[in-house]
Amino acid sequence: MSELRELYQTTILDHNKKPRNFHVPAAANREADGYNPLCGDKVRVMVAVGDDDVVTDVGFQGSGCAISTASASMMTEAIKGKPVSSAMALFDSFHDLVTGPPLDEPDTDGVGKLAVFSGVREFPMRVKCATLAWHTLKSALEQSGETARTE
Ligand code: ZN
Repeated sequence: MSELRELYQTTILDHNKKPRNFHVPAAANREADGYNPLCGDKVRVMVAVGDDDVVTDVGFQGSGCAISTASASMMTEAIKGKPVSSAMALFDSFHDLVTGPPLDEPDTDGVGKLAVFSGVREFPMRVKCATLAWHTLKSALEQSGETARTE
Protein backbone atom coordinates (compact mmCIF):
# COMPACT_ATOMS: atom_id res chain seq x y z
CA MET A 1 0.00 0.00 0.00
CA SER A 2 2.80 2.47 0.82
CA GLU A 3 4.27 1.89 -2.64
CA LEU A 4 0.93 2.76 -4.20
CA ARG A 5 0.72 5.81 -1.97
CA GLU A 6 4.10 7.05 -3.13
CA LEU A 7 3.11 6.45 -6.73
CA TYR A 8 -0.12 8.34 -6.00
CA GLN A 9 1.82 11.42 -4.84
CA THR A 10 4.16 11.52 -7.82
CA THR A 11 1.41 10.71 -10.35
CA ILE A 12 -0.96 13.40 -9.06
CA LEU A 13 1.80 16.00 -9.01
CA ASP A 14 2.89 15.11 -12.53
CA HIS A 15 -0.59 15.18 -14.07
CA ASN A 16 -1.53 18.36 -12.20
CA LYS A 17 1.57 20.10 -13.48
CA LYS A 18 1.27 18.81 -17.03
CA PRO A 19 -2.37 17.85 -17.66
CA ARG A 20 -2.75 15.53 -20.68
CA ASN A 21 -5.37 16.33 -23.30
CA PHE A 22 -6.05 19.75 -21.81
CA HIS A 23 -7.56 21.01 -25.04
CA VAL A 24 -10.76 21.24 -27.06
CA PRO A 25 -10.82 18.34 -29.54
CA ALA A 26 -11.60 19.68 -33.03
CA ALA A 27 -13.98 16.80 -33.76
CA ALA A 28 -15.78 16.87 -30.40
CA ASN A 29 -19.45 15.96 -30.77
CA ARG A 30 -20.39 15.41 -27.14
CA GLU A 31 -19.66 17.51 -24.09
CA ALA A 32 -20.76 18.16 -20.55
CA ASP A 33 -19.88 20.39 -17.63
CA GLY A 34 -19.16 19.22 -14.13
CA TYR A 35 -19.06 21.02 -10.82
CA ASN A 36 -17.98 19.93 -7.38
CA PRO A 37 -19.33 22.60 -4.99
CA LEU A 38 -17.54 21.12 -1.97
CA CYS A 39 -14.12 21.91 -3.40
CA GLY A 40 -14.95 24.37 -6.18
CA ASP A 41 -13.66 22.10 -8.97
CA LYS A 42 -15.03 22.86 -12.41
CA VAL A 43 -14.48 20.79 -15.50
CA ARG A 44 -15.78 20.55 -19.05
CA VAL A 45 -15.25 17.25 -20.82
CA MET A 46 -15.43 17.11 -24.61
CA VAL A 47 -15.51 13.84 -26.48
CA ALA A 48 -15.24 12.97 -30.16
CA VAL A 49 -17.12 9.75 -30.81
CA GLY A 50 -16.64 8.17 -34.24
CA ASP A 51 -19.18 6.27 -36.35
CA ASP A 52 -18.02 2.99 -34.88
CA ASP A 53 -18.80 4.26 -31.36
CA VAL A 54 -15.14 4.62 -30.46
CA VAL A 55 -13.76 7.56 -28.49
CA THR A 56 -11.42 8.97 -31.13
CA ASP A 57 -10.46 12.02 -29.10
CA VAL A 58 -11.19 13.48 -25.70
CA GLY A 59 -10.13 16.65 -23.95
CA PHE A 60 -10.98 18.70 -20.91
CA GLN A 61 -10.92 22.29 -19.70
CA GLY A 62 -11.52 23.85 -16.34
CA SER A 63 -9.88 24.55 -13.05
CA GLY A 64 -9.78 22.74 -9.78
CA CYS A 65 -7.61 21.14 -7.17
CA ALA A 66 -4.68 18.87 -8.01
CA ILE A 67 -6.71 15.69 -7.57
CA SER A 68 -9.55 16.76 -9.86
CA THR A 69 -7.12 17.93 -12.54
CA ALA A 70 -4.96 14.82 -12.33
CA SER A 71 -8.00 12.58 -12.37
CA ALA A 72 -9.39 14.30 -15.49
CA SER A 73 -6.00 14.08 -17.16
CA MET A 74 -5.61 10.37 -16.42
CA MET A 75 -9.20 9.68 -17.42
CA THR A 76 -8.64 11.13 -20.90
CA GLU A 77 -5.57 8.93 -21.33
CA ALA A 78 -7.47 5.87 -20.14
CA ILE A 79 -10.47 6.16 -22.47
CA LYS A 80 -8.94 7.55 -25.66
CA GLY A 81 -9.26 4.99 -28.44
CA LYS A 82 -11.69 2.83 -26.47
CA PRO A 83 -15.27 1.96 -27.41
CA VAL A 84 -17.89 4.01 -25.56
CA SER A 85 -19.05 0.82 -23.80
CA SER A 86 -15.54 0.25 -22.41
CA ALA A 87 -15.34 3.85 -21.22
CA MET A 88 -18.63 3.42 -19.37
CA ALA A 89 -17.40 0.13 -17.85
CA LEU A 90 -14.25 1.89 -16.70
CA PHE A 91 -16.42 4.54 -15.03
CA ASP A 92 -17.99 1.75 -12.94
CA SER A 93 -14.63 0.18 -12.09
CA PHE A 94 -13.13 3.53 -11.12
CA HIS A 95 -16.17 4.46 -9.07
CA ASP A 96 -15.99 1.15 -7.17
CA LEU A 97 -12.25 1.64 -6.67
CA VAL A 98 -12.55 5.03 -4.97
CA THR A 99 -15.80 4.48 -3.05
CA GLY A 100 -15.14 1.01 -1.62
CA PRO A 101 -14.85 0.40 2.13
CA PRO A 102 -11.53 1.97 3.26
CA LEU A 103 -10.34 -1.16 5.03
CA ASP A 104 -11.02 -3.54 2.16
CA GLU A 105 -8.26 -4.46 -0.24
CA PRO A 106 -9.04 -2.42 -3.38
CA ASP A 107 -9.96 -4.28 -6.54
CA THR A 108 -7.53 -2.82 -9.06
CA ASP A 109 -8.23 -5.35 -11.84
CA GLY A 110 -8.65 -3.68 -15.19
CA VAL A 111 -8.13 -0.11 -14.06
CA GLY A 112 -4.44 0.09 -15.01
CA LYS A 113 -2.66 3.25 -13.88
CA LEU A 114 -5.87 4.51 -12.27
CA ALA A 115 -5.10 2.14 -9.39
CA VAL A 116 -3.12 4.97 -7.77
CA PHE A 117 -6.45 6.54 -6.80
CA SER A 118 -7.44 3.63 -4.56
CA GLY A 119 -6.18 5.46 -1.44
CA VAL A 120 -8.69 8.25 -2.04
CA ARG A 121 -11.44 6.08 -0.53
CA GLU A 122 -10.12 7.02 2.90
CA PHE A 123 -11.00 10.66 2.26
CA PRO A 124 -14.67 11.23 1.36
CA MET A 125 -14.08 14.87 0.38
CA ARG A 126 -11.39 13.82 -2.07
CA VAL A 127 -13.59 11.11 -3.59
CA LYS A 128 -15.72 13.87 -5.10
CA CYS A 129 -12.65 15.55 -6.57
CA ALA A 130 -11.45 12.26 -8.07
CA THR A 131 -14.81 11.27 -9.56
CA LEU A 132 -15.91 14.67 -10.92
CA ALA A 133 -14.37 14.22 -14.37
CA TRP A 134 -15.81 10.71 -14.61
CA HIS A 135 -19.35 11.83 -13.77
CA THR A 136 -18.94 14.58 -16.34
CA LEU A 137 -17.73 12.08 -18.93
CA LYS A 138 -20.79 9.95 -18.27
CA SER A 139 -23.09 12.96 -18.77
CA ALA A 140 -21.31 13.75 -22.04
CA LEU A 141 -21.52 10.19 -23.37
CA GLU A 142 -25.16 9.84 -22.35
CA GLN A 143 -25.81 13.26 -23.90
CA SER A 144 -28.02 14.08 -20.95
CA GLY A 145 -27.39 17.78 -21.31
CA GLU A 146 -27.10 18.04 -17.56
CA THR A 147 -24.29 19.54 -15.54
CA ALA A 148 -22.70 16.75 -13.54
CA ARG A 149 -22.64 17.58 -9.85
CA THR A 150 -20.99 15.66 -7.08
CA GLU A 151 -23.71 16.77 -4.64
ZN1 ZN B 1 -11.12 19.16 -5.53
